[in-house]
Amino acid sequence: MQECQFCEIASRSKESEILYETESAISFLDHRPVSKGHTLIVSKKHFENLFDVDQDTLCEVMKMAKLISIKINTLYNPTGINLIQNSGEQAGQTVFHFHVHVIPRYDDDYNKRLGIEAQKRVRSTNLDLKLTANELRLALRN
Ligand code: AMP
Ligand code: ZN
Repeated sequence: MQECQFCEIASRSKESEILYETESAISFLDHRPVSKGHTLIVSKKHFENLFDVDQDTLCEVMKMAKLISIKINTLYNPTGINLIQNSGEQAGQTVFHFHVHVIPRYDDDYNKRLGIEAQKRVRSTNLDLKLTANELRLALRN
């Protein structure tokens, strides 16, 4: 099989800002965030998309999406949160390993109604990502 970036992140052979994990799911910051706190929730096992992920893993990913959303809400007080799941190239999927986006929305956010593939990304250095990840990891401990 061709190398899969998210399998590599899940096995920690590729670097990322991991926030939280359970037996079957893991979350880390999107490296090109649409907004501060933009997080990906990913199955640990390789499933291509919504159609082949099993029900238990799907539940685990969605439970983690809710947990991360609650923590982001408390920490950054966004005005809303989108959960986005792209399945298939035509839907904007670019990484073919099942994942859900948690995207906090803020008042000055003009991307709200666009599909994820058309979204303007915020400038985010590795240091910005590290600071955001540290804040969220700390919040997830409480
Ligand atoms: P999608 O278009 O739904 O397939 O989204 C894939 C997302 O993965 C995009 O928002 C990318 O910015 C993000 N992404 C790709 N590679 C990495 C990586 N190595 N670390 C963190 N995020 C990534
Ligand atoms: Zn994979």
